[in-house]
Amino acid sequence: MTNRLKSVVLVISLITAIVIFSSVQLKLSYNNKLTCKLNIDDKTQDTPNIDTKNDSLFIAKIYSEALVKGKSYIILKELCKKIGARITGSAEAEMAIYWAEKVLKSYGFDKVYLQKIKVPHWERGTKEVAWAINSKSEILKLDVLALGGSIGTNGILEGELIEFNTLSDLKQANPKKVKNKIVFINQPFDQSLLQTFKAYGACYPIRGYGAVEASKKGAIAVIIRSLATPIDHYPHTGVMSYNDEVEKIPAAAISTSHSNQLSNWLKKGKVTLKIEMDCKMLNNIDSYNVIAEMTGNKDNNIITFGGHLDSWDVGEGAHDDGAGITHSIEALRLLKVIGYRPNHTLRLVLFMNEENGNMGGKTYAKLCKEKGEKHICAIESDRGGFLPIGFDIVGNDKQLAFIKSFKELLYIFQLYKFDKGYGGVDINPLREYYPNMLQLGMAISSQRYFNYHHTEADVFETVNKRELELGSAAMATMLYLVDKYID
Ligand SMILES: [Zn+2]
Repeated sequence: MTNRLKSVVLVISLITAIVIFSSVQLKLSYNNKLTCKLNIDDKTQDTPNIDTKNDSLFIAKIYSEALVKGKSYIILKELCKKIGARITGSAEAEMAIYWAEKVLKSYGFDKVYLQKIKVPHWERGTKEVAWAINSKSEILKLDVLALGGSIGTNGILEGELIEFNTLSDLKQANPKKVKNKIVFINQPFDQSLLQTFKAYGACYPIRGYGAVEASKKGAIAVIIRSLATPIDHYPHTGVMSYNDEVEKIPAAAISTSHSNQLSNWLKKGKVTLKIEMDCKMLNNIDSYNVIAEMTGNKDNNIITFGGHLDSWDVGEGAHDDGAGITHSIEALRLLKVIGYRPNHTLRLVLFMNEENGNMGGKTYAKLCKEKGEKHICAIESDRGGFLPIGFDIVGNDKQLAFIKSFKELLYIFQLYKFDKGYGGVDINPLREYYPNMLQLGMAISSQRYFNYHHTEADVFETVNKRELELGSAAMATMLYLVDKYID
């Protein structure tokens, strides 16, 4: 081929590429008229168009940075491996605060500061032990974890086991049958539910209120089936509560596998349980939320986003909520390195104490109101480091329509689920003071979440690098869109 011919071929190829690219852009922008702009104060305003072409290009930059040069995996690895489990009030929680402050300062955000809060302080103490003895004198050493907030057993506690399937079954029981026994509540996840958080929600009462209801009937302790999807040997801890009018009794979770075995034993005869737990509640102490901001160019209105820095005291808190911490830190870093200047203040909050008190979220909301701040949106990531699929929306019909208007734009980034739902535990208290504010919870593929939730198995190795990075990109993308299109 001559040089002249080569040049002609090159020019034709370039023109073809431009035509194809333009038609792709055209496809992306055909829905311009469908979209709306949201003004939180103006109830009537509609629709300047979404700038589909420039938004797609900008979001593509976010994804490229996150997937090629991103820091997500490094951030999560440091949190999990340098610090690990970090229950509120522990030395590790304090380490996490200082680690987070240092990381945020290293990224050069406009502001990085700590917000003082009072938090509860519960300790597991020596590893708990429990075993069961059946009518044939066989023994079974149980996979067991005390529930967060439980009192200890003050030595070995022994009692006959009585099984209930649900909390309402226990509530209806004859107290004479329960008195001086150890209550075993064995409610399994409903496996037919595609949304595992719904299965979790249905079982939550056995963990949250099992001890109070068992105590009302005269029981001396309660054990529950772990709130988990699979049948395996991991006990899942989690917060439980007492009621001041009812005597406190120890509460623990056992694995799903052992729950099945105990249930089988109980069908054949009497089962005795022995349990020793050393846990205790200590005095409240000081702790901190860790906060970073990129200041708004246009005004001081605030978009809060984040996850929770504390975790349970087992595993490494990788999915819960190291992933949410990572998504949030990396999202702000991505926007900064790409050179985005926000219209409003983007405030990243790493909340402390989500797991057993939510004092981080509650105190943050209260202080925002006291300072007279104007808040326009809050976004949370607390559903693990799995594949992001969209955002759950808390808001009125107009706010719902506003977020749904991004659907077509975000489809090529594989974000497609934008439904009414729940924002998150940490941002929820803001609703008390800002009831009309839009809230978003990052929706993440939830099929494996309750394999790891609140267990020894929630470690860094169970998080996929790509999926984690996509979560960070999704958070940065939603921040960009909300910041750009909410006045
Ligand atoms: Zn969490």
